[in-house]
Amino acid sequence: MVTDVLTANQLKKEAPVFGQMSFDNHEQVVFCHDKDTGLKAIIGVHNTVLGPALGGTRMYNYSTEWDALNDVLRLSRGMTYKSAITGLNLGGGKAVIIGDAKTQKTPELMKRFGEFVHTLGGKYYTAEDVGMETSDMDTVREVTPYVTGISESKGGAGNPSPVTAYGVYMGMKAAAEFKYGTNKLDGKRVLVQGIGHVGEELVRLTAEEGAKVVISDINEERLNEVSTKYGVEIYRGEDVYTADMDIYAPCALGATVNDATINKLKAQIIAGAANNQLANENIHGALLQQKGIVYAPDFLINAGGIINVYAEIEGYGRDEIMKRTENIYNTTLDIFNKAKEEGITTHAASLRKAEERIAERKKANLQ
Ligand code: NAD
Repeated sequence: MVTDVLTANQLKKEAPVFGQMSFDNHEQVVFCHDKDTGLKAIIGVHNTVLGPALGGTRMYNYSTEWDALNDVLRLSRGMTYKSAITGLNLGGGKAVIIGDAKTQKTPELMKRFGEFVHTLGGKYYTAEDVGMETSDMDTVREVTPYVTGISESKGGAGNPSPVTAYGVYMGMKAAAEFKYGTNKLDGKRVLVQGIGHVGEELVRLTAEEGAKVVISDINEERLNEVSTKYGVEIYRGEDVYTADMDIYAPCALGATVNDATINKLKAQIIAGAANNQLANENIHGALLQQKGIVYAPDFLINAGGIINVYAEIEGYGRDEIMKRTENIYNTTLDIFNKAKEEGITTHAASLRKAEERIAERKKANLQ
């Protein structure tokens, strides 16, 4: 690989695009600019062997354009593996819009973005991600059919977050079965970091099962609201990674499992919704394994949302959505057993399973 022989500075100069650390054989990367609306977006199409690339659009005020590019490349790759391991006939893609969603998002900008999506002719389907609402997808739908996550009143499958939370809950229970020999969560201390759309529903599901849930968030108002609603405790310490917990559920940001946090974590299980939880997937998966922490790979257990939006393309209903999401339990348990058998990390076992499915389809397509 290029990165083995070139230093970071050489990389920037000699291979600024294909040599990016996060560039992993992406099929296509599209830069979209429109002066009138102020749109600056990047669409990453990682792999379309299994089907059209599907992944949400994130609007975020990135500090640099490199950060935006890096994010879209990492996220679109993650979508390839998520859909592959979940058994969906979808490839991996993602889009980012550079800017503040609160102040810079306008219907005109969203429509212009939709027109760019349309030029890809169905190779990429967009959906909601951070900074987007269902209503934004409805706006995009006005200019292209290549969008999912639209309102139920407009024929969409509705809000994917509760389905994502249910899948994470299934993955967490599978991890408990593997670690403790029972999938019951009652009495387990579950720390949910980030109580947004997905986190709150995960709090509900785990608290209803009798888990001792502790919540953490940067939004004080949300903390008080969710704490009162479900009778759960708010983490008030200095450093959330040192909290007493059995299960850590990252539902806010990526890269929270890193050199600094792994040594502090007291959890025996990590199972949450955030994408790209391992700061470095080659190093941190192995460190968790050494510490005996069971890690439920993010792209495996947070697939409920994509199962939900895929229903809009395939036309299946609520029962099928929930059945497929529930199956995350079985897939996760299979992955844990496979990883144990082969002495590899759960992350590596998941990647392998996804890659095998893509390779098989590629072979079949060539025949
Ligand atoms: P959200 O924006 O609704 O919620 C995120 C929450 O995290 C907010 O309450 C925010 O205040 C909090 N937060 C931000 N920074 C924090 C920090 N440093 N410490 C603690 N809390 C912090 O997002 P969401 O839709 O609930 O998604 C949560 C995560 O799951 C994201 O990483 C997202 O990419 C991922 N994910 C979501 C879905 C989905 O269906 N929504 C699907 C797959 C993956």
